[in-house]
Amino acid sequence: MPFESLSPRYPAMRKPDVVVIGAGFGGLAAALRLAELGANVVLCETLRYPGGCASTFTRRGYQFEAGATLFSGLGDGQLFSKWNEKWDLGVRFDPLDPLVELRTRQWSLAVPSDRDSFVQRFSALPGADPKAVLGFFGTQRRVADALWTLFEDPSLLPPFSGSSVVRHLGRSLSYVPVVRWMGRPLSDVASQHGLAGWEPLRVYLDAVSQITVQVSSDEAEAPFAMAALDYFFRGTGHVHGGIGSLAWAMTKAIEQAGGKILLANRVRGIRREAGRWRVDTRKGELEAQTVVANVLPQSLSSMTEPQMNGELHDVEASVESGWGAAMLYMVVDSDAVRGPEAHHLQLVDDETAPFVEGNHVFCSISAADEHERAPDGQRTVTVSTHVPMKKLRQMKPDNQGAYVAATQSRMRQTIGRRAPELLEHAAFEMTASPRTFARFTGRHLGYVGGVPRRVGWNHYRPRALWPREAMRDLYLVGDSVLLGQSTLAVALGGVRTAEQIASRNTFSAEAPGS
Ligand SMILES: Cc1cc2nc3c(=O)[nH]c(=O)nc-3n(C[C@H](O)[C@H](O)[C@H](O)COP(=O)(O)OP(=O)(O)OC[C@H]3O[C@@H](n4cnc5c(N)ncnc54)[C@H](O)[C@@H]3O)c2cc1C
Repeated sequence: MPFESLSPRYPAMRKPDVVVIGAGFGGLAAALRLAELGANVVLCETLRYPGGCASTFTRRGYQFEAGATLFSGLGDGQLFSKWNEKWDLGVRFDPLDPLVELRTRQWSLAVPSDRDSFVQRFSALPGADPKAVLGFFGTQRRVADALWTLFEDPSLLPPFSGSSVVRHLGRSLSYVPVVRWMGRPLSDVASQHGLAGWEPLRVYLDAVSQITVQVSSDEAEAPFAMAALDYFFRGTGHVHGGIGSLAWAMTKAIEQAGGKILLANRVRGIRREAGRWRVDTRKGELEAQTVVANVLPQSLSSMTEPQMNGELHDVEASVESGWGAAMLYMVVDSDAVRGPEAHHLQLVDDETAPFVEGNHVFCSISAADEHERAPDGQRTVTVSTHVPMKKLRQMKPDNQGAYVAATQSRMRQTIGRRAPELLEHAAFEMTASPRTFARFTGRHLGYVGGVPRRVGWNHYRPRALWPREAMRDLYLVGDSVLLGQSTLAVALGGVRTAEQIASRNTFSAEAPGS
C-alpha cells in the first residue's frame, strides 16, 4: 500500500479509513474493534496518556485513579477479559470481596461478589422482611438478566438484522418484566414489594443509583436502574496498577492490530470536503472516510461547523442536566486500611439529605502490592462526589470556587464521620473540581458521568437506541450516548459503533482477526 503525505508533520502516514478523537474507553474500544475488523485507524488523544476519566495519573511520585475506580467486564468471557487474552495484554484483574463497603450512620453493608450471599446479607439488615427482600431482588435480577444480555451482545441492539429479530422473538418472554417497568421510577419497584418504607433498601438504592444511573431511586428509570444494580455482580473488580494499565495495554493492542495512536495531539476541528472528513490536529491534518468522536456533543459541536449541530441538541440538553465531580486525591499510611487488597468505601453522612455534594462519597484505596502507585507502607485514595452543574453554573464565577471548596470540606466531614481512619492516617491531599476535568480531559465545562437516566420514555426512542451518527460518517461514542456511563458501557458502545461502521464500509487493510 503506498503511503501518501497529508501534511509535513505526517510524512509517512496513509490516509486512514477512520480517525477516532479521544482515547477514553469509548474511543479505545471503537479503535480496537475497528482495527480488528480491518480498518486503518488513527486515534488522536489530547493528553500524553490514554483513559480520560478512567485514567491513572502521576503526581509527586504517586499514581492516582483520575475518576473511575471500580470496573466490570473483567470476568471470563466478558469484553475486557476477552481482549486481555486475545491481545495478550498481560493486565492483572483482581477479584474483590467485598466489592464495596457501604457505611451509613446506623448500619454498614459489605457487598460480596456473590449475589445470593448479598441477598442473604441484605436480609439481615435492621427491620428486614426477608421474603420481600428476596422478591425485590428477584424482580431486579430478571430485568438485569434481560438487559445485560442485550448490552453485552451489540448485534441484539438496533439496527436489527434478520437473525437478531429471530433471536429477540425467541427471548420475548424475558422482556416482559422489562416492559412492565418502563417509564416508572425504581422506587416503584420497592413499593410493589411492600418495601417503600424500609430505610436500608431506600438508602442502598439511592447510593448505587447515584453512582451508576446518576440519579436517586425516586428519579431513576427503573429498567436501567435495575440493570445497573447488577454492576457489582458482573465480573467486577480491580485493575492492578490502576485502570491506566488497561488503557495503555489497549493502545498497544490497537497498534498490534495495525492502528496508530497519536498522543498529545488535540483535534482542533473537522470539516467535510468532497465526501470525506478533514481532521485538523495539533500535529497536522488527517483525511478519513469516517470520524468517531469520543467527546461530549458540545465538544463535537465546537469542532464542526454550526449547521452540523442540530442533531445533537437533545444529547447536549441531557448532558447539561447532569453532574460534575469534586475530588480528593489522598495518600494514607497503610495502617488506615484493614487488608492488603484494593478497597472501596461508599460513605453516607446524612441518609435524609441528597446523596451528592459531599454528603455521599466514593473512596477507592489502592492495593498494598501496587508499588508503582505508592511506596511500601502507603496507599493512594481517590474520593469523589457529585456536583450539580446547574447549581454551579448559576453561580457567579467568584462564588464557584468557594462552593467547590465547601463541597470538598463536606467530603472530609463525611470521611471523618464514617471512615475516620483515613483522615487520621492521611499523609498528602490534593483536590480537583469540574474545572480540573474540563482542563485535563476536555470534558465541556467539567460535565462527567454521562446522561442521568431520569424516568421517561425518551430513553427508548429509536434515535436514542441507534448508534449515534451526528452527520454522514461522523459518529458520537462515549458516555453521553447508548450504552451510557461506566468504562464497560462506553467500551461496549464503542464496539457496537465500530461494527456498524464496518458493516457500511470496505476497509483497505487486512483484518488481523475479528
Ligand atoms: C469521578 C468519577 C468516578 C467514576 N467511577 C467509575 C467507576 O468506578 N467505574 C466505571 O466503570 N466508571 C466510572 N466512572 C465513569 C467512567 O469514568 C466514564 O463513563 C468513562 O470513563 C467515560 O469514557 P468516555 O470514553 O466516554 O469519555 P472520556 O473518558 O472523557 O474520554 C474522552 C477522551 O477524549 C480526549 N479528548 C477530549 N477532547 C479532545 C480533542 N479535542 N482531541 C483529542 N482528544 C480529546 C480526552 O482527553 C479523553 O481522554 C466515573 C466517572 C467519574 C468522573
